[in-house]
Amino acid sequence: MNLTHIEHIGIAVKSIDEARKYYEDVLGLKCYSVEEVADQKVKTAFFKIGQTKIELLESTDPEGPIGKFIEKKGEGMHHIAFAVNGIENALKSLDANGIRLIDQTPRKGAEGLDIAFLHPKSTFGVLTELCEDKNK
Ligand code: ZN
Repeated sequence: MNLTHIEHIGIAVKSIDEARKYYEDVLGLKCYSVEEVADQKVKTAFFKIGQTKIELLESTDPEGPIGKFIEKKGEGMHHIAFAVNGIENALKSLDANGIRLIDQTPRKGAEGLDIAFLHPKSTFGVLTELCEDKNK
């Protein structure tokens, strides 16, 4: 498998408007994109730090995955995302290694990336996302 870097870290927040004050005014990062991903029932805000991004996730529906996450665990780290070359092959290899896949095949995520999630039960408790930017 060809993982290249940590693409982003996903953080669940109740309100992007509230949380971005901390990231922008206190940490001095710049929000360069706010985007709604309708099929995930989330609004996302992206900050860049080196080649890694922070992805803030705000639920647009209490029944969506982020809404349920916050209900259960509160705000905080939600997932880690690795950039990968060849996401389809990576998923095959993970599957062959007995890793539980949430997405059997890649789907479109924020920023037009191809993404797929791995189940935290087989990744030592960390919800893990693979992403590949096929537009570059
Ligand atoms: Zn993500």
